[in-house]
Amino acid sequence: MSHDCLFCKIARHEIPARIVHEDDEFLAFHDINPAAPVHLLLIPKHHLASLAEIGPADGDWLARMLRLAPEIAFANGCNPLPAGGFRLVSNTGTEGGQEIDHLHFHILGGARPWSNRA
Ligand code: 5GP
Ligand code: ZN
Repeated sequence: MSHDCLFCKIARHEIPARIVHEDDEFLAFHDINPAAPVHLLLIPKHHLASLAEIGPADGDWLARMLRLAPEIAFANGCNPLPAGGFRLVSNTGTEGGQEIDHLHFHILGGARPWSNRA
């Protein structure tokens, strides 16, 4: 299904982004307004608004997306454990601070200090 949302357009390469990972199912790119030294967004290429729309049939691709997060984080500047690490954030709904209604994980990391605002 074709959607007009911003992240669908980025997934279709209709809007440019600094892409760090792409495969058949997922895309990861730099956030345009970074809240940490490393601030990436990981999205599924298919449209769904948020985690609130996840259902029983979504377990497999969601597990693949979760497994991809540390791989992308550590390949793109998040420092290794145990001293390094990263945050994984998925704002959901208005009171969750969600501005773009296409499911995304914020991957935040890099040397502190930086705020936990994302
Ligand atoms: P949300 O508030 O929905 O969880 O996060 C949306 C994120 O998308 C924000 O951190 C914002 O900076 C980022 N963003 C908004 N527009 C664009 C854009 O056009 N390109 C990129 N790369 N990031 C964007
Ligand atoms: Zn979308």
